Order: sequence, then structure tokens, then C-alpha cells
Amino acid sequence: MAEDKENAEVPSKKALKKAQKHAEKAAKKAEYKAQKEGDTDQVDSETQDVSEGLYGTLPMNQSSQKIAFEYTFIGDLSKTKANSVVKITGRLHTSRAKGKQCFFVMRMREHSVQCVLAVGDKVSKQMVKFCGNITRESIINVEGKVVATSQKIESCSVQDVEIQVHKVFVESAAEPRLPLQIEDAMRPDTEDAEGLQIRVSQDTRLDNRVLDLRTPINHAIFKVNAGVIKLFRESLEKRGFNEIVCPKLISGASEGGANVFGLSYFERKAFLAQSPQLYKQMAIASDFGKVFTIGPVFRAENSNTHRHLTEFTGLDLEMAFHHHYHEVIQMEDDEDLSTPNEKLLGRLVKAKYDTDFYIMDKYPLAVRPFYTMPDAENPKWSNSYDMFMRGEEILSGAQRIHNPEFLTERAKAHGIAVDTIQSYIDAFRYGCPPHAGGGIGLERVSMLYLGLDNIRKTSLFPRDPKRLTP
Ligand code: ATP
Repeated sequence: MAEDKENAEVPSKKALKKAQKHAEKAAKKAEYKAQKEGDTDQVDSETQDVSEGLYGTLPMNQSSQKIAFEYTFIGDLSKTKANSVVKITGRLHTSRAKGKQCFFVMRMREHSVQCVLAVGDKVSKQMVKFCGNITRESIINVEGKVVATSQKIESCSVQDVEIQVHKVFVESAAEPRLPLQIEDAMRPDTEDAEGLQIRVSQDTRLDNRVLDLRTPINHAIFKVNAGVIKLFRESLEKRGFNEIVCPKLISGASEGGANVFGLSYFERKAFLAQSPQLYKQMAIASDFGKVFTIGPVFRAENSNTHRHLTEFTGLDLEMAFHHHYHEVIQMEDDEDLSTPNEKLLGRLVKAKYDTDFYIMDKYPLAVRPFYTMPDAENPKWSNSYDMFMRGEEILSGAQRIHNPEFLTERAKAHGIAVDTIQSYIDAFRYGCPPHAGGGIGLERVSMLYLGLDNIRKTSLFPRDPKRLTP
């Protein structure tokens, strides 16, 4: 009996295993909970964490607190008084734990600063460990002292000061595995001719465009895009053009041909505008005189080239003229321009870009859109022109047909179902001044200006025959 009792008190192997598993599970659970709360001292040691409350992962920001913190922009740190305490927010670009210190670089757009967190009075080992484990690209909020450095920090944009950190919080964590490293994406194509360093392919960049777009070069590209739009808008407004917004959902193909995206529109078929052409002209028929519009245009052309997109930004203008469509191209420019050839449209691209910019006048009518006016002396030719930059077409323009019968004839000749554009044709039945205009593709101009090899680089989220995401 005594033996039996003894045996009964010794747990079986199975029970032991079960208990061990249970304990392991509980430990893991506690560790996970502690990590989640950024409370590493529970995991790390039994000693009191002197940095409690000075680091951790913040709960999801739901704008519940109205406290206004004075944050210092990373780019302004060099101007900040030495030894002052600042709060900064940015991405964790890189980090390196070294003994009792964690060095990390914080980045926001083209600005970056070196930060140091070192074990001390208020900084515990646990805090340094937490900091070393923050994943790259996480958004972090840091508080620290601005300290002048004895040596220039070559790897950062802020080179004369660093931040001695005493608070660090994760605002929004990035997943540990990034599909591309920002450092790799930041490397210029021209650098490292032997190809020893990692390159990021165009597809990887475009598949992960949100990461790719974080690089300073991409921010610069889209500043140029914004600059071209601004220059276009300001130049035309100065000359009395009225900006208009045109529909993108239309009942017929605006440029004709097969290159149009169709979609179902309740019980009917609709199309995505291949250009704002019809509406610019209808504004002229409404006596607007000079109009321009900036907006997306869609081309269903299966052109897998470095210069074609299926959706791009059209910078389009149209104006009524008095005698000859050259009034549009040769609209007298500001007095400060030196040569008579530097006219409005040319100036938009030439003044700043100074490339091999030129205009080609007159094209065979057959290759121009249906709404293009033929030349009176040689009806096989059109009253049209193209502008080129670095040898590639950036703008095409022409005199338009403002006679409804002739327009109908030309549309039929181009195989266009006239009933789908009837309201456009009818716009010319009640008198319309002769007019001409043109259109520039924003992304193509920026690509050529910057000397880039691919139009996808100047489109924020490019659309081409193979790409519809992100
Ligand atoms: P391309 O001959 O290059 O295909 P296009 O003759 O069709 O151009 P237009 O329809 O007159 O050109 O468009 C006016 C401008 O719009 C062009 O000069 C160009 O800058 C731009 N553009 C035209 N098609 C595209 C496209 N698929 N992707 C990007 N930009 C374009």
C-alpha cells in the first residue's frame, strides 16, 4: 500500500511533459504581452526599470488627446540651439546596437539625423534593447538633447549635430521584412558601375511604390512635376486663359480609333476620355476664348514602351484665333524674351529646360485626329504642329474643324460612330470662332527634362498595359 501511495504522488512522464509545456506556453504568453507593451523589463530582469514610461509602443493614435507637442522638423535641427531639448518624429532609417549604446538614424524625406541612446541615469539596458529592436521604417517619436558633434556626420543630411535621446516611442511599427531596402533604392543608378551593390529592379520598385516613393530622388521628381503644372497654369492664366474641368466619362471616343477604354454605364456603354478635346472646343463654342485644363487622360493602347502610359496627365489648351492658327503657337510672349521664336508654348519647356526643343509644322492629314483642319492650299496636309524635346514628341497641336458638316464627314472617314459624338458636333451649329490648341503629356515632359529613361518614373502610380496596381 505504502509503495502504491508513493507511486501515486510521483507524476507520470506524460503529466510532467504536459506541465512543462504549460509552463513554456505561459512564459511565451507573458513574453509576448511584455513585448507588446514595450515593457521589456518583465522579460529581461527582475530589477526595477529606471526608464519605465520613457519608451515603448504607443497605442494606435485615434486623436483622443488634444495636447499640442512642439515637434522640431529634422531639417531644422542644425539651426536649433545647442543643448536644447527637442521632440522629433520620423522613420527609423537604420540602427546599430553597440554594447550599452544604440545608434540610429532618423529620416524624414530628404532629411536625416543621427541619434544615440546610451545606458545612463534615466536610460536602462532594457530601453536600449527595446530601441535596438525597433524595425526599420517604423515611425518613431523621440525626445533628446541637440549636441554638436566633433566630426561631420557624412551619412546624414544634418551633419553638425546629433540627438542624445532620452525618450523613444514607436508610433507605427513597420513589418520586420521589407520588400526592398530604402538604402538600396536610394543608390543612384550611375554609382557603382561594377554592380557590386544591390540594385532594386523597376518592377520591385513599382510593386512596392509606397516604399520606393520614400526616397529623396522620388520626392524631387514629383516636385518637378508640380513645377511643370504650376508653370503651365501660371503662364496661361497670365495670358487670360480660363482653367476648366472637363468630364472624363464620355459617350464616344474623343480621339477616335480603337485606343479607348469602354465601361458599362447603367444601361449604356461609356468611355474614358482620351483627351479633353471635345470639351475644350465646346468651351470655345461657348465664347470662353482661351481655356486650359489639367487632368487625367486615358489611352487603351497596348504600347509597352518607355514613353507610353495608359493613364497620363494632360496639360491641354485651346484658344480662338482671328486669322491664322499660328497665332496660337506664336502668341507674343513677354517683352523680356530675347528672340521672337521663344513663344508661349515653347517657353513652357525651353526657358528652364534648354534642350533640343523645336517645333515641326504641318503633317499629312491622314495621321492627324479627325477634328484637325486640313490645309487650304494642300488638303492632304493638316494645319498642325508638334513640339519635340530631346527628339521626342511632347506636344501636339492643330487648328480644329469648326464646321459641323465637315466635322461629320471627317469623323465618318475615321470610322467614328457619329451618333456617339453628336452633342459635340452640334456645338458648332450655332456659330463658333476658328480655334486651335494643343496638349502636352506631363509625365513625358518631366521624363525628358530630367533625362530619365522611363516614363513610369515620373508617374506616381503608373498605369500601363501590364500594371493596374498599386
Ligand atoms: P504618341 O505619338 O507619342 O503616341 P500622340 O500623337 O498620341 O503621341 P497626342 O494624342 O497628340 O499624342 O497627345 C498629346 C501629348 O500627350 C503627346 O505629345 C505626349 O506628350 C502625350 N502623350 C500621348 N500619348 C501618351 C501616352 N500613351 N503616355 C504618355 N504621354 C502621352
